[in-house]
Amino acid sequence: MSVLRGTDASPPGTDLGSRSGGQPDDRGPLGLYLHIPFCEAICNYCNFNRGLFDVGLKRRYLHALHQELERASTASRQVPADSLFFGGGTPSVLDPDEVRALVAHCRSAVNLAPEAEITLEVNPETVSPARLDGYRESGVNRLSLGVQSFRDEDLSRLGRLHTAARAIEAFQVARAAGFDDISIDLMVWLPEQTVEAWLESVETLVGLEPDHVSFYLLELYPNAPLKDEMARGGWAQAPQDRAADMYQVGVDRLAAAGYEQYEISNAAHAGRRSRHNLKYWSDGAWVGFGCGAHSTCAGERWQNVSGIGDYIDLVDEGRAPVGNHRRLSREERLTDTMFLGLRLSDGIDMAAVRRQYGVDVWSRWGPELAPFVESGLLVRQSDRLRLTRSGMLLSNEVMQVFVS
Ligand code: SF4
Repeated sequence: MSVLRGTDASPPGTDLGSRSGGQPDDRGPLGLYLHIPFCEAICNYCNFNRGLFDVGLKRRYLHALHQELERASTASRQVPADSLFFGGGTPSVLDPDEVRALVAHCRSAVNLAPEAEITLEVNPETVSPARLDGYRESGVNRLSLGVQSFRDEDLSRLGRLHTAARAIEAFQVARAAGFDDISIDLMVWLPEQTVEAWLESVETLVGLEPDHVSFYLLELYPNAPLKDEMARGGWAQAPQDRAADMYQVGVDRLAAAGYEQYEISNAAHAGRRSRHNLKYWSDGAWVGFGCGAHSTCAGERWQNVSGIGDYIDLVDEGRAPVGNHRRLSREERLTDTMFLGLRLSDGIDMAAVRRQYGVDVWSRWGPELAPFVESGLLVRQSDRLRLTRSGMLLSNEVMQVFVS
């Protein structure tokens, strides 16, 4: 398979299937990621790889995406995969027929399990019953709904196109279309948001009973237009300790409603953890298609060029759209395992690290980690190392141990 696509220096078409006996590597079945970079408006805080929707550009982009999948599929049909994720941007700007064609192409490109988790990110303002019925028929079996807040003041400050009522309606339409695996994204620490206001959003979410919840702290990148709007409007984020309170009470409320936090920013009902996203945190393998898409597979890591036009041009010229590519050293893989594994509530299995890398975690990092155990941020229990709830809030400090 050419899931292990080449850089310009190593031409596309590398046969991963024959390298690995049909297995992508020792990290289990692959996850596939398709990036859909179009949005109907650009939110004032957004630092993702996206651009404004344009019908002509979308057509050319989808053509390139299919070509990229086609080239990857030559030798990959036996490579097992068990998840497919449409991320963006706003994948729900695609028509159901376009999603159907991409799902079908992925199924022919790899050995995608019949029961694979197929997720589509959806923005509430794009939802209609016909569209969601169409997605369901195209094979999508999980939705990730980008709500961010159930309060109109928050949504308007963020420049979102939907209202709280529209988000609730979108969720209900999705349920009516038969989706029994729906995730809702909320953002915490919004301008002018109080603990009470945050809990109001959480409460509305709990009332809807989604299957999975993601909650992210708002990060203001240096040139975010939201920063200027905050200055003009005199809006401020609550002090950091209030943000910590929001996080804690949110997780508590979700736990009381039966959601188990399984990652720093994710909680789910039993059996509804995101199979695809777990690959990112638990040493899995995935291959991304489309502009800016990342891949980690068979000990290599690469990223496609970010620009929509650059991506289309490279694919049209028959070249690999890869911007950077490198082989991971054993040390880098170990660091990733530690760094990402700590994001999970289950933490790191130190026995597995010993088996895989021949490294005893406590011998290697014990002196630096011990103070975090003493201060209650980290728990070491037999062969498990995991962050506590307060440790999750200060995870960056703990994780520095593995990158220094
Ligand atoms: S919809 Fe999402 S990807 Fe698009 S601009 Fe807003 S935050 Fe960014």
